[in-house]
Amino acid sequence: MEFPGKYIFHQPFSQSVPSFANNPYIRILSAYMQKEKFIIIGNGPAGFYAAKKIRAEIPDCSITMFDREPLPFYTKIRLPDLIAGKVEEKKLFLSSLEDYKKFALDIHLGTEIASVNHKDRNIVTSTGQIFYYDKLVIATGAKAFRPPTIKGISHEGVYVLRTISDARKIMEKMRISQNAVVLGGGLLGLELAQALNAKGLKVNVIEFFPRLLPKQLNETEAAILLKKLESPSLSFLLDRITTEIISQDGGLLAKTNRGDEIKTDFTIVSAGIKTEINLAEYSGLKTEFGIIVNDRFETSEKDIYAIGDCAQFDGKTFGLWAAAKEQGEALAEIFSGKRPSYKPSAFNPIPKVTGVNLDEIRKEAKQGSA
Ligand SMILES: Cc1cc2nc3c(=O)[nH]c(=O)nc-3n(C[C@H](O)[C@H](O)[C@H](O)COP(=O)(O)OP(=O)(O)OC[C@H]3O[C@@H](n4cnc5c(N)ncnc54)[C@H](O)[C@@H]3O)c2cc1C
Repeated sequence: MEFPGKYIFHQPFSQSVPSFANNPYIRILSAYMQKEKFIIIGNGPAGFYAAKKIRAEIPDCSITMFDREPLPFYTKIRLPDLIAGKVEEKKLFLSSLEDYKKFALDIHLGTEIASVNHKDRNIVTSTGQIFYYDKLVIATGAKAFRPPTIKGISHEGVYVLRTISDARKIMEKMRISQNAVVLGGGLLGLELAQALNAKGLKVNVIEFFPRLLPKQLNETEAAILLKKLESPSLSFLLDRITTEIISQDGGLLAKTNRGDEIKTDFTIVSAGIKTEINLAEYSGLKTEFGIIVNDRFETSEKDIYAIGDCAQFDGKTFGLWAAAKEQGEALAEIFSGKRPSYKPSAFNPIPKVTGVNLDEIRKEAKQGSA
């Protein structure tokens, strides 16, 4: 049933309002309001796959979703490819507005949720609209981390990459730039540096650790990788802490603790992620570095659940696409009673560096030391 006037009827509706009892429209509306009401905040993989699976598991329920981004569900994993010009933006979308209709998901895009009132069982949008839930799923994900210790980290011309909107801003800047600095030489930082370099920019990567990918590679392997990646237009400044970014002559100057001063048109910070838990914290849910949940994704408040990047499960957060999807689907099965609890799979993401096979590098390192 198409539910008209979705903003008007979100107050709890009582079936026993006598003056309305014979009104057929009100009877239909009343039946609608008796359905279990799920609200999902966040339209990333955790929220989207939870919604789809809840619809499959519990067909007769209402599902209302919110995301501050104005776009249907898309993949973040290919954002560096978008910047490198390897994929068109439209190919990133994994859903269309038609899909939400097909799965009867009442989606409110471009809508920020400002608070959760667990006592009244409602949420409030940043424009003051109130929506009531029976079960609330928080899937607010994470944001790119801007280390506050770096002076000038929020200057104009300092970008991060988490959303399509971030990518669009970076691409716009790239078109009028000759060079860039990437802060952080982890997997994403390297991918970004290569993407910018492929588009003709001269790139400097500043990395805190004395070698590249210390989690993935040993010293010898990291040295081989460095040799493969370095070129006159792609340089790596290892074992350095970026201390300050200064706005200067229409561009930026990145300073490090070792006295480097690198002039650049713009900077991209790739320093990891920070879980998006402000809303939960502000609303009184228990948090540490994520929203604390048990093995049924239950938070500290009744009928409020958290999944995906924002959830702290068994003392850890995952920060992985596959984990977010798995958690969304598992929660739906917990709701329907199909499974009692969740046990994470052994996620084993394969680290990738564009144009370089890390296994080949490991082999090369072994041969070299044999
Ligand atoms: C550039 C990049 C590359 C990546 N590469 C990989 C990879 O190779 N492999 C891998 O496994 N993972 C990768 N990831 C990580 C992966 O994308 C995330 O783990 C995944 O998106 C997490 O899903 P989520 O649904 O928990 O959160 P998100 O995808 O972050 O979605 C959360 C949504 O909630 C919304 N939201 C937050 N707060 C509010 C609010 N108050 N009101 C309304 N809406 C709100 C946000 O707008 C967002 O759309 C990458 C991420 C990025 C950015």
